[in-house]
Amino acid sequence: MMRRMRGWWVWAAAAALSLCLLSAAPERTAHLVVLHINDTHGALLPETRADGSVAGGVARVATLARQVREQAPGRVLFLHAGDVLSRGGPLTVESGGVTDLQALEQAGIDVFTPGNGDFYFGLDNLLRVSGAVRVPFIHANIARVTPEGPEPIFASHVILEAAGLRVGVLGLGEVRMDHPSARGLTLRGAAEVARERITELREQVDVLIVLSHLGEIADRMLAASVLGIDLIVGGHSHSKLDRPVQVVHPGTPSCTWIVQAGDLSRFVGRVDIEAEQHEAGWRITRVGGRLMPVDGSVEEAPDIRKFLEDHQERLAQVVGRNPAELPNAREGQDTVGQFAAEAVLRATGAEVALLGRDAFDAGLPAGPVTLADVYRIHPWRSPVLVAQLNAEQIRQAREELDLLVAGAEVTPGQTYAVAVDGFTLGGAPLLREAPFTDSGLRLDEVLIGSIRARSPAGE
Ligand SMILES: [Zn+2]
Repeated sequence: MMRRMRGWWVWAAAAALSLCLLSAAPERTAHLVVLHINDTHGALLPETRADGSVAGGVARVATLARQVREQAPGRVLFLHAGDVLSRGGPLTVESGGVTDLQALEQAGIDVFTPGNGDFYFGLDNLLRVSGAVRVPFIHANIARVTPEGPEPIFASHVILEAAGLRVGVLGLGEVRMDHPSARGLTLRGAAEVARERITELREQVDVLIVLSHLGEIADRMLAASVLGIDLIVGGHSHSKLDRPVQVVHPGTPSCTWIVQAGDLSRFVGRVDIEAEQHEAGWRITRVGGRLMPVDGSVEEAPDIRKFLEDHQERLAQVVGRNPAELPNAREGQDTVGQFAAEAVLRATGAEVALLGRDAFDAGLPAGPVTLADVYRIHPWRSPVLVAQLNAEQIRQAREELDLLVAGAEVTPGQTYAVAVDGFTLGGAPLLREAPFTDSGLRLDEVLIGSIRARSPAGE
């Protein structure tokens, strides 16, 4: 099947090259530049590479984008194809992605489509992030379940003007529906939604872009099965496509191009779209593109550097003093995980607390503990959830997962109020079936409170 598909691509590409990029005497011409980035996953700050060089970071991304805008004023759009979250450094986790979107907005992004990772901190958090910036969030195939039926959360698309062209950008994405953060959401198939939307949108625009967090393979399927998309700016699969990929539609003069720019702010993609206006409307005559490396030769934009430094200063505030180190060890009572499990037990009043060992990335250092330390220990903003479970369910959960347990000895036949964090629940298919309710607490906040309480008196 795969081999046949590949053969088809090659044949189709050869057959349609001339059809797709046809040209005749135009009334007007236009040159649009689309910049794109995806799956930044909290990579706000530069990274130090194996050879000691420093590269990446949103301040360098901004410099590249601003240079292109200066060279092509009024002709540039900058799109982000999703996944600012799920993990990331303390700046990202502590702000729930607000710092990321604000920095990216300063860097000049025009549109954002939320990726699956952007839903992991919950819909309320995502709406808080979108409310903190002017950048429009678009997503056509996710909705909220209401008694009246599915209700859109974000606009499906935006229409922007650039290079004298009306450019439609339609957002399509993927959401992990079995994750507890997806409760109350409903996801429709991207191709079906695209087919519905594109028919009407095509009438209103000269160039149609899908901003996709579906992944490269799904993008290729979408390009092959839905007519009318000029360009798919992709994400999710973290694919580093050095050149735009062309997908032709045999027997028609249309084709679709696919781009994606790796991940972690290491590249900004650039697509050059040339178009000619004829009596029948605008027609794309040439598409070219490449990835611009965000390397050490690019200066950091000073305003964004300063913006991030100010936030780092805030994260350097001391939340408490820890009398003795608690390592992120898998064994023993004096570990950060056990400390957290006891803290959850106290905060919720539950009888048993179950936390996945994977929920912790670092130990709690001795001495002053900063906000940044807390978000290095647990790089999530997990809600704490509570449910009544019987001893058998607790036993099954402990078999299914590597869990830290605090609280009562579990006796067969008994039922217990059990507290779990959302991150752990996300990886526990058996536990997810139980009727957990949100306690209103978050694990990171519980940790901060317990670190304060652990501090020696008077500090
Ligand atoms: Zn993703």
